[in-house]
Amino acid sequence: MAEDKPHFALSGVVTVVVGLRNYACHRDLLEASSPFCAAKLKDCWNEGKNEIHLDDQEPAAAEIWIDWMYKNFLSRAPLSIDTETLRIGLIAKTYKLADYLIIPDLKNDLMDLIMDQHKKSRKWFTLHALIDLWEVDESDSGLFKYVFRSSILSFMTSPKFYLTGSGELKKISTRADTTLLLKVIEGIMVWNVKSWDLPSDDKKCDYHDHSEGSSCKEWDGPRDKVNNQ
Ligand SMILES: [Zn+2]
Repeated sequence: MAEDKPHFALSGVVTVVVGLRNYACHRDLLEASSPFCAAKLKDCWNEGKNEIHLDDQEPAAAEIWIDWMYKNFLSRAPLSIDTETLRIGLIAKTYKLADYLIIPDLKNDLMDLIMDQHKKSRKWFTLHALIDLWEVDESDSGLFKYVFRSSILSFMTSPKFYLTGSGELKKISTRADTTLLLKVIEGIMVWNVKSWDLPSDDKKCDYHDHSEGSSCKEWDGPRDKVNNQ
């Protein structure tokens, strides 16, 4: 006989309120998944309530998190959106939610998903994506670092896209705030000293968050970079 293990399906159900949406989730699973939820649930228990509120978060991001929590696997939903603005918006909101809930594993799974997809497609984020990300979350996160490196690469290797007819450069200068523009200028100067390859070819761990004792299931060890001239 197998040893008896606690199972979340036997736990009580609580309501997670995100914006106008309500989600029924197993209490034990929420507690095990997120230190933030664990603390919130403790307070709610003391107050005799059966729901927790996630303030200023997006239902679409919450649905990706809940799906991930139950399946222990990240759906491709954030990447399957055609429009880049909406795609990076959902990625950024999901990443921000994972940060808010203190779930570094979800942040890292999100980074791995993006990097795997870019590695296959040989695509990267544009400077517009960087601005879209900045509008959701002005932080020095692994996601920001990745999108930043990716978008500077896009700018420096496809100058035609930014400098010809469509006026992309002008659009960017009117959309980005000063702090971000200064970061972009700095990035371009760094690129001129030593350019970099597609960041999805870097070590994934460069963009991970390993706080809260989160392990690195994807990292396959350091890779020596060969600088092809
Ligand atoms: Zn790692």
